[in-house]
Amino acid sequence: MLNIAIDGPVGAGKSTIADEVAARLHILHLDTGAMYRAVGLAVMDAGLDIQDEAGVTALCAAGRAHVDVRYQDGAQHTLVNGQDVTGRIRTQQAGTAASAVSRYAAVRQMLVRRQQEIAAAQPMLLDGRDICTVVLPNAPVKIYLTASCEVRAKRRFDELQQKGDKTPYAQIL
Ligand code: C5P
Repeated sequence: MLNIAIDGPVGAGKSTIADEVAARLHILHLDTGAMYRAVGLAVMDAGLDIQDEAGVTALCAAGRAHVDVRYQDGAQHTLVNGQDVTGRIRTQQAGTAASAVSRYAAVRQMLVRRQQEIAAAQPMLLDGRDICTVVLPNAPVKIYLTASCEVRAKRRFDELQQKGDKTPYAQIL
């Protein structure tokens, strides 16, 4: 299967490059961060504390944080428990929840398995922190994308500015 795996640190530009490359090759791009965000949202919607690992683990075991993706005109739609949450996962709160739940083994196991299933079904480009090492260790193309600290900090700075966050560049750097 033509799977392309892109790994690298925060702010290196993985998603931007991934979108562009996938479009040029006419293959789909799986944004794995969106899947962690969807689980974060399911945890919050269930009224659970994102720090409650046992509660989150039980939610996953009960199949109540089931993540799926659909594509419309090449664009990823992320679903959790059958609901399209593509818009709702882009908040800072969902990002914080994603970051918390991504530390839990039960969440990682569930999503890694799902990502492997999706990637096995079609030619696809995946990006995320563990894609080359854990999700697709045998992908025919593996790219580790990085950039200088200054460029990564600038990218994060611009992103935060757009959201109205005034954290100074020097602090981000
Ligand atoms: O890339 P994005 O900000 O959407 O990812 C949300 C969070 O999901 C990240 O901060 C990270 O904690 C987690 N994540 C992960 N493994 C991936 C992709 C994302 O742990 N492959």
